[in-house]
Amino acid sequence: MSELIKDIKNGRILKNNGSWMYCVKCNMTVGYLCYSTYQNFQFDFDCKCGNKGSFRLAYKSEQDPVKSNKDLEQVKNRLCCPNDDSPLFTIVDKNIESVKYQITCKHCQTEYSNG
Ligand SMILES: [Zn+2]
Ligand SMILES: [Zn+2]
Repeated sequence: MSELIKDIKNGRILKNNGSWMYCVKCNMTVGYLCYSTYQNFQFDFDCKCGNKGSFRLAYKSEQDPVKSNKDLEQVKNRLCCPNDDSPLFTIVDKNIESVKYQITCKHCQTEYSNG
């Protein structure tokens, strides 16, 4: 298992490498990160309470990710990789104004982002 690189600002995550993500100002959930399916995850949010925060969690990789123009697949509220159906993360839309994300699927090393 390679080392987890982590940088979180104005946010809190329930477990070391995944689970619920919270805004530190109002303590509401802003998202959920699946533990073992990401290589690289970035999530910059504007909370409805006015707080701005960010999460960066990444495992070092020798491989460069392939950028995809495809959208993530939504299964219930979980965003999944369209190549292999890996569940990746959830955005709690009702608690945030906006989010900018980028995620690389560990299984297929494909990178998805929303802008
Ligand atoms: Zn907040
Ligand atoms: Zn994948």
